Amino acid sequence: KVRVRFAPSPTGGLHLGGVRTALFNYLFARQHNGTFILRVEDTDQTRFVEGAEAYIVSCLEWCGIVVDESPQQGGSFGPYRQSERKASYRQYADQLIADGHAYYAFDTPEELDAKRKEVLNFTYGQGTRNGMRNSLSLTELEVAALLADNTPYVVRIKMPKDELVSFTDLIRGHVSFDTNLIDDKVLLKADGMPTYHLAVVADDRAMEISHIFRGEEWLPSAPIHILLWRYLGWANEMPQWIHLPLILKPDGNGKLSKRDGDRLGFPVYAQNWTDPKTGDLTKGFKELGFMPEAFVNLLAMLGWNDGSDQELFSLAELTEKFSVERISKAGAKFDFEKAKWYNHEWIKHTDAVKLLPAVKAVFADQGFVPADDSYLEKIIDLIKDRCNVFTDFIAQGSYFFNVPAEYDLVAVKPKWTPEKEIFFEEYALEINEGQSASNLEERFKQLAEARGFKPGELMLPFRIMLVGGKFGPGVFDIAVALGVDETRNRITTALS
Ligand code: GLU
Repeated sequence: KVRVRFAPSPTGGLHLGGVRTALFNYLFARQHNGTFILRVEDTDQTRFVEGAEAYIVSCLEWCGIVVDESPQQGGSFGPYRQSERKASYRQYADQLIADGHAYYAFDTPEELDAKRKEVLNFTYGQGTRNGMRNSLSLTELEVAALLADNTPYVVRIKMPKDELVSFTDLIRGHVSFDTNLIDDKVLLKADGMPTYHLAVVADDRAMEISHIFRGEEWLPSAPIHILLWRYLGWANEMPQWIHLPLILKPDGNGKLSKRDGDRLGFPVYAQNWTDPKTGDLTKGFKELGFMPEAFVNLLAMLGWNDGSDQELFSLAELTEKFSVERISKAGAKFDFEKAKWYNHEWIKHTDAVKLLPAVKAVFADQGFVPADDSYLEKIIDLIKDRCNVFTDFIAQGSYFFNVPAEYDLVAVKPKWTPEKEIFFEEYALEINEGQSASNLEERFKQLAEARGFKPGELMLPFRIMLVGGKFGPGVFDIAVALGVDETRNRITTALS
């Protein structure tokens, strides 16, 4: 039975790498008729951020990534917030201590700080643990006395000496880690809260997780987790490991961070996120005018393909075609231009009716309210293939609402003549209700030729009268959409 989990820590906005992890979990679950769980890893109270959980839930919803078990929906393996499972972890720390795989460490934060100042790159582990105040270096009596005194302590894992922890990662294949290079990580903190390492293993087992999909940044933690699975006697229940390739900066130089987005001017969060402490707003893909379908599509392609040239996939298609075998080991560069291309393609291939609510909102935001939805649908059909993001509809379509405030005179003025003016006055009178774009164009050409013009000389001026600039779809299509009165009005206004 496939059971997978997305296990974010509620410490802030949701980075696109996080959404990709959620997506791959979700696709895998759907494909195998499995269960997709959202588990909130909130044991680190110092990093907890109010509102982050609700934000994560809303991002997943926006993406169409449906969760089966979660703090919000519940489920038979709950609670789904680790802080609410606090009482369940201590028994495992106790068991590990009893079996000699973990120990009490009484060193105070001040003592540890002093040690870190004294010894460069100090890590608490095999070579160093003997000089410290812990149950491995103190006598049994001393330990008993400290415990009886309620001396605060943490529980640390005892990393074995000279072992190679090996396992199979479904993307990376055989992976091994030398235990001599891993420090004795804290498992239980002084306040009785587990750390990530203990909680993640305890909960993955308790929730019967079958496959762990997570970012490659967690690969160095895997040997610690694997040892815990073994030490706790659960080795034969251990899930499969799948560490997803990193998402890299556009130049491929290291992991993409929120700072890169700020620096290079693109979003890395799914939706707008306002830090409750600083009030700082980080822009998201949603508010920048991305379709969730495009966002999900571009995330899937960061490290995965189906083996063909196909780049556009709906969520349903991804669910059908996704395969772990086709996830690459190599990191995937994030390219914002390419991200916009995905959105462009999605906008272009989506029906106007479906785009209507988002485009309407974008226009309404600027104070443009269409007379009716069918007018807006017409506009959308005319300009959607010119837009990368929803907000582009403003620049590409505001002239459908307003007479141009300015005209690109440089484009027409040098060649302007009174004869041309007469042509347009006449043409304005010939525009009638019910004419199609091709009717309008035909009449335009006939009249132009009759007046001794090449139609091409007049087409650009006509466009500028209607639009204000040298852009937009076919000018006669624009005229039809604007209607007879408005087209005439714009000709007159421009000539006056
Ligand atoms: N809480 C970890 C995170 O924030 C989860 C890592 C894992 O999936 O094991 O990403």
